[in-house]
Amino acid sequence: MCVPDVREQTLVAVKPDGVQRRLVGQIIRRFEQRGFKLVGLKMLQVSEDLLSQHYCALRKKPFYPSLLHYMTSGPVVVMVWEGHNVVQTSRVMVGHTNPAEAQAGTVRGDFSFHVSRNVVHASDSLEGAQREIQLWFQGKELLNWDCCDQSITCEV
Ligand code: UDP
Ligand code: MG
Repeated sequence: MCVPDVREQTLVAVKPDGVQRRLVGQIIRRFEQRGFKLVGLKMLQVSEDLLSQHYCALRKKPFYPSLLHYMTSGPVVVMVWEGHNVVQTSRVMVGHTNPAEAQAGTVRGDFSFHVSRNVVHASDSLEGAQREIQLWFQGKELLNWDCCDQSITCEV
């Protein structure tokens, strides 16, 4: 038996359109169902300052002003999920950035049709996940807890 790196973490956020459309529960359910562990969760109205740091790589893009407007249009629900290969698997679960190209079965493929309202965010790399988790959460907001099914879901 080998124990993979089950402590990998990623940041997932339900964007304002997802919250308004009451999709929070369905999105959380997909990550729980997959076997990942929720270690942080909060709802907040994001500041432009936090968003500009979160999306700093996109500052020069033509869609950046409308992205800021969209992301500050209402509350978001932001989470940290933990588990083996969670960064890459979450990206697959979330689907292509442009919902028109997202596969059915992914969050974006099932719940959205336009890139400007694509319901959910997930970190795109290990480094990105670490940076985003530190940006959105304080260390004490992340809980280190044991799942009762840890030996089944985490030790493969
Ligand atoms: N976005 C947009 N128009 C575009 C490309 C991106 O409005 O042409 C928005 C969209 O909400 C996307 C976010 O900017 O999720 C961040 O873009 P990125 O390329 O990082 O995509 P993601 O990592 O979210 O799939
Ligand atoms: Mg991205």
